Amino acid sequence: MNIAVYCRDQYRVHDHLALQLSLEAIQKDSTSKVIFFTSVEENPVVDLETLTEPLQRGKWLCGPHRMRFQSQAIDSFQEKLNAFGIPLLVNRNSSFMESFMNLNHENKVNTLILADDAEVNADDLDRVKSLGVEVLLVHGNRLFNELPIEQNQLPKVFTDFKKKMTNLPDAPITMNCNPVTHSSQFKLEAEPEIDPKTAVPFQGNEEQALYRLHHYFINSDGLKNYRSTRNGMIGVDYSSKLSVFLALGSLSVKTAWAAIDAHEAVTGKNDGSEWMRSELLWREFFKWTAVRYGNSFYSPEGIQNKTKECKTDLKSFERWTLGKTNEPFVDANMRELRATGYMSNRGRQNVASYLVHELNLPWQWGARYFEWMLVDFDPTQNYGNWAYLAGVGCDPRSFGNQPPRFFNIKKQSNDYDPDGRYQKIWLID
Ligand SMILES: Cc1cc2nc3c(=O)[nH]c(=O)nc-3n(C[C@H](O)[C@H](O)[C@H](O)COP(=O)(O)OP(=O)(O)OC[C@H]3O[C@@H](n4cnc5c(N)ncnc54)[C@H](O)[C@@H]3O)c2cc1C
Repeated sequence: MNIAVYCRDQYRVHDHLALQLSLEAIQKDSTSKVIFFTSVEENPVVDLETLTEPLQRGKWLCGPHRMRFQSQAIDSFQEKLNAFGIPLLVNRNSSFMESFMNLNHENKVNTLILADDAEVNADDLDRVKSLGVEVLLVHGNRLFNELPIEQNQLPKVFTDFKKKMTNLPDAPITMNCNPVTHSSQFKLEAEPEIDPKTAVPFQGNEEQALYRLHHYFINSDGLKNYRSTRNGMIGVDYSSKLSVFLALGSLSVKTAWAAIDAHEAVTGKNDGSEWMRSELLWREFFKWTAVRYGNSFYSPEGIQNKTKECKTDLKSFERWTLGKTNEPFVDANMRELRATGYMSNRGRQNVASYLVHELNLPWQWGARYFEWMLVDFDPTQNYGNWAYLAGVGCDPRSFGNQPPRFFNIKKQSNDYDPDGRYQKIWLID
């Protein structure tokens, strides 16, 4: 019996149902052979034209910053799988289907296991099934295994979604394999090529994911103070930075939720922990909205099917990407992104609003640049947030005839960087 497990962006051994099932299969029948495989994009360089082409779902651009985090996550996962005697095949710049066909050619696959939130389209899975392969979809990295409401009843706006999520999320599973320790291999020192000013001085692997979770939620006041610090822009601890690990799947979101429970068991409920739960529910909301709307979630017209006239000025787009728009608050944020692959949520909202509403460029150009640059790029979160700001997604204000959400950049700069400290960091070379 040959079992293939597609594990893209599920690089952890905690709370990993596909791994658990594989280990059980080996235990039951020692002749079973399990092979994990993944496909990754690597795009160290792209040109401006590529960024303005329509996106290709499942073939996301991956720039140098994320490539580094991704390979750290994969290397560490590969080492752990090897300890179980399970190989992990890494296919660079090939699609799910190409990767599967190669594997199937070498080892006739009987069962394919993959996560239910993997970016694999239904046609590809039908092709796999037509080869006589059993396909098993298992829970991936969402809080709820199933939604407590029908798919077509999914609210279009977050507050209505949150009200409906009255059930507790599903708990992480207990693995019957060695748990990883969360402190043993932690190294915070930056590698030589990493910008010393980065807000994410981590590696992408599971050890660092669990360390960071523990540090922020349990061993420091990070979570307790989160509500008042979350709009910060400087340093490592104003927000959790868990997005980096959640996107790679080196951290399970259910494990993160359980860590909030553990924090509250000691300190009681507080503003910080409540707010963090709400943010994780935002993540969940975009995940399920993407499932419900499929391609339109990612389309220029969005789930609202709205069109908007835009300029197609490549020069002004290029200046935005380089942080040379002459709007200092926008430029500082864009330079941080370019130098480190990370930008605060406050920064992301402002630079996106600027591109859409002041430069009047297609929002998908901005989203594609983020796709390439962000260390925490997640298709559902990136395109969900961009469409929201562009007025074609889930922003309640954009459904009626009200003007779209618009960020007044000067005011935002005064409110969130009143002494210009953040701008000095990134604008003075
Ligand atoms: C234009 C734009 C693009 C974005 N692209 C991405 C992306 O590709 N990947 C990504 O993970 N997030 C994205 N976000 C959401 C948010 O900016 C990041 O999740 C957050 O800044 C990550 O830092 P953190 O982990 O320290 O967040 P924290 O503030 O510590 O929040 C904790 C977690 O809650 C979730 N969360 C927080 N804010 C949001 C939000 N607005 N939407 C959905 N989930 C949220 C994330 O999983 C995050 O890790 C985007 C936001 C905007 C405005």
